[in-house]
Amino acid sequence: MNETFVPLADIGRASTRAPVAMQRVPATGLLHDRLGRPLTDLRISVTDRCNFRCSYCMPKEVFDKDYRYLPHGALLSFEEITRLARLFAAHGVRKLRLTGGEPLLRKNLESLVEQLAALRAPDGQPLDLTLTTNASLLARKARALKDAGLQRVTVSLDSLDDAVFRRMNDVDFPVTEVLAGIDAARTAGLPVKINMVVKRGTNDQEILPMARHFRGTGAVLRFIEYMDVGATNGWRMHEVLPSAEVVARIGAEFPLRPLQASAPGETAQRWAYEDGAGEIGVISSVTQAFCGDCSRARLSTEGKLFLCLFASSGHDLRPLLRAPESSDDAILSTIGHIWQGRSDRYSELRALRAPDTSDPGAPRRVEMSYIGG
Ligand code: SF4
Repeated sequence: MNETFVPLADIGRASTRAPVAMQRVPATGLLHDRLGRPLTDLRISVTDRCNFRCSYCMPKEVFDKDYRYLPHGALLSFEEITRLARLFAAHGVRKLRLTGGEPLLRKNLESLVEQLAALRAPDGQPLDLTLTTNASLLARKARALKDAGLQRVTVSLDSLDDAVFRRMNDVDFPVTEVLAGIDAARTAGLPVKINMVVKRGTNDQEILPMARHFRGTGAVLRFIEYMDVGATNGWRMHEVLPSAEVVARIGAEFPLRPLQASAPGETAQRWAYEDGAGEIGVISSVTQAFCGDCSRARLSTEGKLFLCLFASSGHDLRPLLRAPESSDDAILSTIGHIWQGRSDRYSELRALRAPDTSDPGAPRRVEMSYIGG
């Protein structure tokens, strides 16, 4: 398969900003990285465990019964997570996303949601608080999460067909229970987005059935290009179905028109159904990299800060949190230095390499299940 190379400027939303010289770290306030990108979005992994084994994230051959997960003592407590979130908010973070593994496996997650929902941005506004889940436990927890202050939820669902679903997540879990979780969230008043990872040859035949099912329901369905996250999912370019093809397939049955991004740094490109039946989104990290306005940092469940989904190492904040003389100022300054030194743009650089070739010198990427999607 001969893939065409696209010049950097033609890649999706490439980094058109000029590199920024290192600035003095502000004690508080918005931070910008070396490419001028602000830090506005923190993804917080609250567990490295999951009850699914999605082949593109936690292949069961690797994450088997002998896999060593983090001991409970290594996990940040809810109070430590909340303290860090408060300090990130002081540095301009407006959006918090709880992830995992599967975040609903973390006991009493509602109490963390309650603590985070009480935080305020420097202008006094509440933070945007959302969660990504496989919805296996959502039917039971939706009401409590909403009451605790959760504002929105994103559900990962890769098929409506049980057999195809099983091929994607390698567990025997009925789609009906995921749909029940989605219904429970909506009944509780939580707006829902659906994320479908598309793997050519495995579930791409499900694109139209999923679109038909969620059209007109108010739930926004997003299609995610299969990515080479981590180092264990055996990623191959030929299994990537470009988002342009997803849009073409759906558009052939339901005419679509492009929409503006709803916020800077939004990962999805939005498309509206011409007939008013709602919208879909495509997240195209492989064929249309969006590193140019990537404003996301990720906190692992044990307190390491990662600056890119495809990072290979993080910055350990836990010692700062647990030091006897731990101070907010020291943590604020550390966050500032870390972000201001950031220049990650993995997806843009991947696009410059020949397909299915990796950078021989590149260190091993961390697993997505460890830092959250
Ligand atoms: S590849 Fe890294 S820098 Fe680029 S958009 Fe994804 S997380 Fe951001």
